[in-house]
Amino acid sequence: GDADIPPYAARLNMPQREAVLTTEGPVLMLAGAGTGKTSALTARLAHLVAMRLAWPSEILCVTFTNKAAREMRERVGRHLGDAVEGMPWLGTFHAIGAKMLRRHAELVGLQSNFTIIDPDDQLRLLKALIAEAELDEKRWPARQLAGLIDRWKNRGLNPGDLDTVENESYANGRGSQLYETYQKRLQALNACDFGDLLLHMLNVFRQHTDVLAQYQTRFKYILVDEYQDTNQVQYLWLRLLAQERKNICVVGDDDQSIYSWRGAEVANILKFEKDFPGAKVIKLEQNYRSTPHILGAASGLIGANSQRLGKELWTETDTGEKVRVIGVWDGPEEARRVGEEIESLERGGTGLDEIAILVRAQYQTREFEDRFIQIGMGYRIIGGFRFYERAEIRDALAYLRVIAQPADDLAFERIYNQPKRGLGAKTLEKMYQHARRTGMPLAAASLDLADSDELPARARGTIGGLMRQFLQWREQADGLAPAELLRQVLEESGYQTMLENERTPEAKGRLENLSELARAMEDYETLGDFLEHVALVMDNEANADEAKVTIMTIHAAKGLEFDHLFLVGWEEGVFPSQRSLDEGGLASLEEERRLAYVAITRAKKACTILHAANRRIYGQWTSSIPSRFIEELPEDHVESETTMSGGASLWRANWSESEDPFAHVTRDRPDRSQKRGPGWQRALATGYETRPVRVQESRRSAASFAAKPRGDIALG
Ligand code: ATP
Ligand code: MG
Repeated sequence: GDADIPPYAARLNMPQREAVLTTEGPVLMLAGAGTGKTSALTARLAHLVAMRLAWPSEILCVTFTNKAAREMRERVGRHLGDAVEGMPWLGTFHAIGAKMLRRHAELVGLQSNFTIIDPDDQLRLLKALIAEAELDEKRWPARQLAGLIDRWKNRGLNPGDLDTVENESYANGRGSQLYETYQKRLQALNACDFGDLLLHMLNVFRQHTDVLAQYQTRFKYILVDEYQDTNQVQYLWLRLLAQERKNICVVGDDDQSIYSWRGAEVANILKFEKDFPGAKVIKLEQNYRSTPHILGAASGLIGANSQRLGKELWTETDTGEKVRVIGVWDGPEEARRVGEEIESLERGGTGLDEIAILVRAQYQTREFEDRFIQIGMGYRIIGGFRFYERAEIRDALAYLRVIAQPADDLAFERIYNQPKRGLGAKTLEKMYQHARRTGMPLAAASLDLADSDELPARARGTIGGLMRQFLQWREQADGLAPAELLRQVLEESGYQTMLENERTPEAKGRLENLSELARAMEDYETLGDFLEHVALVMDNEANADEAKVTIMTIHAAKGLEFDHLFLVGWEEGVFPSQRSLDEGGLASLEEERRLAYVAITRAKKACTILHAANRRIYGQWTSSIPSRFIEELPEDHVESETTMSGGASLWRANWSESEDPFAHVTRDRPDRSQKRGPGWQRALATGYETRPVRVQESRRSAASFAAKPRGDIALG
């Protein structure tokens, strides 16, 4: 009877219990979002230990984030008290891989105290190798090679394993040779990169069957969360470890596979039954997280994907509001509106910790950060730096600071050789010595040095050139709008070109961040005003204990849940991303849709989706149209609203008359002296001064709104 059910399983439904109690043999739990997969996996872990089926040290349990591992450890600890003497093999693939590799480092030519190098070190190393190979780094950027090596490692490929196509993908067939040299260099440094943590271990397992056998015996049970996002090397690694006992339980959701761009293969979960014949497949269909409307909206949306297994989801909850879709005028209004909504939730007693804003791309956090700072609302950014703390933003700000304040040594030191100008640490030391000797600021001292013969001629020329640029920018600073100045600096300094040449998704993200920085600057009359704003923002290190709104990307939100969720920027070209539209393939669009599904299903009580009719890009108003994903939400579960009463209805009236209804909204930024505020923005679009009046609209009108011709964004 129920009295016999241990506390860790008490709350579970029947299929969840089955997942807990079927301890022997392969188990696949394939189920939709919020159905209690992670909960069941945690209970299973507790059960294995409580029943003494294995010691904690005999269970391998892979989670998606360190945070998830910590939570599992806590939960198991809560049920079992002191019986849990830590779980050494509970963690992310990286954490577990590192731990194993330390024990067997010598088998791959490393010592157990090897260093794990970060992406910056990795790049520096690759740059050196590219130079040694006498390749032009401009033509063959180090970042591109880093991306390829990552991809190869994710697929479990060693340098000798590359086929011709892979090999040809860098420097006309020199890929594998550089990959090999890189591995040798790492070994000489007693170091490895993140990709090596698993690849080295996979190699050890393949070449030293005794070591493999040792782990196969040790791990009586293997548990894996978020299995749909495992890549090839992780898959091979797990398969080897599980081959002996076959007590492997994996959980996942094919609809939540969102990491194919990093080499994840949803096929891994789909072929589990083939890999482990006789696997017990458990389906969970009851969702405990979200209200029926949230669930209905998410299910309807993902139904538009063709490549899926298809699952039923239901919930017992019968309360809750519909998913709200709010159309706002522009980005600043979006941030303002979300701020207001959150303040009103707060007044209603909701804690800020229960609220999250999910963005598609990192750069989108900026507008919200600025707004929240202005209204004094605590926020935290998860899985990334706060906007103004990102490396490329700090670099750009450093240039601007030197322009505004020539004595800002720290700023000058940050960028004197960024992008690379061939000025090394020695030059910097000389510049500092000279600065100390003469009492001049660093920048001035270096200019002084450029006239002396203390430095090699080449360095003198470079410094002289850089200082002339700064003089020029300083002169222009008065006459130019701050954002315009930034654009010139990025272009003329070579910073922009440096990023463009990298041709990687990361570099693209950095460029996006920089254009977002330019956008932020448009609100300021002078460079000084803007820099002061930034200084205040940076100073706003909120109290750590204070409740905060969470801002993060959808990718980082996987597996998490929040009472109140705001999904922002649902516009074509933002979400789905421009990249996915440019690629044009069905697969990339379907991955974006899965991402939208992951986003909506993070919400427990309320989900609000926002889209703006205009985004400002490089000083130009660009009209945007609502994301196709909004259109795909089933009508019954959605309630649309727009804050652009006058504007929106006028647009609709205009559509019948004019070919391009947005022609009159896309225009240059108005005269800088003009008073800003919502009033003129609306007036701009409509020719009328209207006040923001909220109206409820039927979804159809919102949909037809979406289907209308767009400004300058092409649909893929
Ligand atoms: P995701 O796909 O997003 O990772 P999931 O399937 O892992 O979701 P969980 O995070 O385990 O789902 O659970 C979602 C929510 O449902 C959590 O708040 C959890 O506490 C709750 N929950 C899970 N199982 C039950 C249950 N049997 N009864 C009541 N609540 C449950
Ligand atoms: Mg989960």
